[in-house]
Amino acid sequence: MEQIKKNIDEIKNKLKEDTILVAVTKYRSIPEIKAVYEAGILDMGENRVQEFREKEEQLPKDIRWHIIGHLQKNKVKYVVGKVFLIHSVDSLGLAKAIDSQSKKLDLVTDILIQVNVSGEDAKQGIDPDQLEGLLSDLSKLSNIRIKGLMTMAPNTKNIPLLKDIFHQTKALYDRMKSNEESYPNVTMEYLSMGMTNDFTIAVECGANMVRIGSGVFKEEEA
Ligand SMILES: *Cc1c(COP(=O)(O)O)cnc(C)c1O
Repeated sequence: MEQIKKNIDEIKNKLKEDTILVAVTKYRSIPEIKAVYEAGILDMGENRVQEFREKEEQLPKDIRWHIIGHLQKNKVKYVVGKVFLIHSVDSLGLAKAIDSQSKKLDLVTDILIQVNVSGEDAKQGIDPDQLEGLLSDLSKLSNIRIKGLMTMAPNTKNIPLLKDIFHQTKALYDRMKSNEESYPNVTMEYLSMGMTNDFTIAVECGANMVRIGSGVFKEEEA
C-alpha cells in the first residue's frame, strides 16, 4: 500500500496542476482502492457496472465515480445518480436512456462523448464526422449535460501516431468549445485521454483528465 502512494506521487509529478487523475480501479480490491483514497485521490474509474455497484456500496461516499467502459442501456438505471461522470457515451440511444433515467430522478447527469479518432474498429466511440450530428440530436435532451470528450488511443509505442490522435481529439474539443453556445446542454470542461502508457503524451497534447490503472497499482518501480 506504500507503493500505491509512491506511484501516485510519481504520476502527479508528471501531470499539470489542474489535470484530474482518475484512478482506474477495475479488478482491484477494496483495500487497494482505500489506499488510493487515502493518498488523496477521490476520482475513481470503473468499466463494469456490476463491479462499480459492489464497490460503491463499500467505499466512502465522497468518492467521485466515473464510468469509463462501454455502458449498456439496460444498466443505466444502476449508475444514474451515483456517478460523477459517464465517459463512454457513444450513441443517441444510450444518451436517451441516461436522459430519461435522470429525468425520472429529477437530476442532470454529466457525460462525455467517446470519439474513435484512431479508427480502430475494435474500439468504442463515434466517428469524429458524426460528432456534430450527434450533438444536435443530444441538444434536445435536457437531463444530460455534455461536459467534454473522451478517447482511447491504440496500444502502441508509436509516439507520432499517439500525438496525432491526441492532437486531433484536442482540436475536436476546441471546436466544440468555441461552438458551445449553439447548444443548450454543452459546457466543455473535460478532455479525458491518456492511460498508463501514454498519459504524458496526452497531457502534452491538452488532456485535462487522465485515466490510469496499472500505473497506480503497479508493484514496483519500472
Ligand atoms: C482499463 C482502462 C484504463 C486504464 O488503463 P491502464 O493502462 O491500466 O492505465 C483507462 N481507460 C479505460 C477506458 C480503461 O478501460
